[in-house]
Amino acid sequence: MAAGYASLGRFADAYAQTQRAEKFQDEGRSFAADVQMLRLEARYAAAQRDAENAELRHRSESARLALEAETVKQRALWAALATLGLLTAALLAFGWRALARRRSLADLALRDELTGAPNRRAVTAYAQAQFDQAQRLGVPLTLALIDLDHFKRVNDTFGHAGGDAVLRALADAAQGVLRGQDRLGRWGGEEWLLVMPGTAAAEVPAVFDRLRSRFAATPADGIDGEHGCSFSMGAAALTPGIGSLDSLIAECDRQLYRAKQEGRDRLCFAG
Ligand code: GH3
Ligand code: MG
Ligand code: MG
Repeated sequence: MAAGYASLGRFADAYAQTQRAEKFQDEGRSFAADVQMLRLEARYAAAQRDAENAELRHRSESARLALEAETVKQRALWAALATLGLLTAALLAFGWRALARRRSLADLALRDELTGAPNRRAVTAYAQAQFDQAQRLGVPLTLALIDLDHFKRVNDTFGHAGGDAVLRALADAAQGVLRGQDRLGRWGGEEWLLVMPGTAAAEVPAVFDRLRSRFAATPADGIDGEHGCSFSMGAAALTPGIGSLDSLIAECDRQLYRAKQEGRDRLCFAG
């Protein structure tokens, strides 16, 4: 258009047209630059977002890995604890069984199998210990031998199992009436040794009476009603003239013989 105006000699219009064209060109360039700028800005923003997303992904992956490592550590710890617990339980069970075995062996060595009472070995050891202590400290000690009366008849009447049950009844009766420090041990057959530490001769009749009535009232397995068996007791207190356990027991035996001689179902004692 500027060339057209110029050819018509309208130079002012041609100039104005040239000015307009330059202005349009400038505006076009500026617009293109703006567009380019906006594009660059958009690409920058997208790149920044991508970078932020990558950072977030990286962080969450790190957190996941850390959590996984912690879980693995926890599992290993629990596994170690469980193994330790199992080992401890196994050791305890083993120790308990060994202890129980030793106890039952010791029990076998010291208990009378039929009645559960201390056997001769155990009651002798207890008597000896009490004898030594009584001599050392000068405290009272009384021993007694007990023998069931006409026990052969019990066996004849109720059978051997009935006799066994009567023996158990005596051990049970003793459990019920004797004091903590007293021991009734099976001496052999239907004979028993009773050890009464701290008991003077004067107290023995009361012990005899308590044991006598409790034994009479204690039922024996397999025997209906009262078993009707009695016992004789020969007791002896430790006195200065007695120098050994054997001589104290020998005195009990003499007293027991007297009790049998005098009619059974009674106590004879010295001391
Ligand atoms: P006594 O009044 O003179 O003592 O007469 P006894 O019949 O009790 O005495 P004797 O010594 O003649 O008989 C004891 C009986 O005890 C004989 C034996 O068979 C019995 N006896 C010993 N040990 C046991 C046992 O463990 N179980 C049973 N059932 N009987 C036994
Ligand atoms: Mg006898
Ligand atoms: Mg007898």
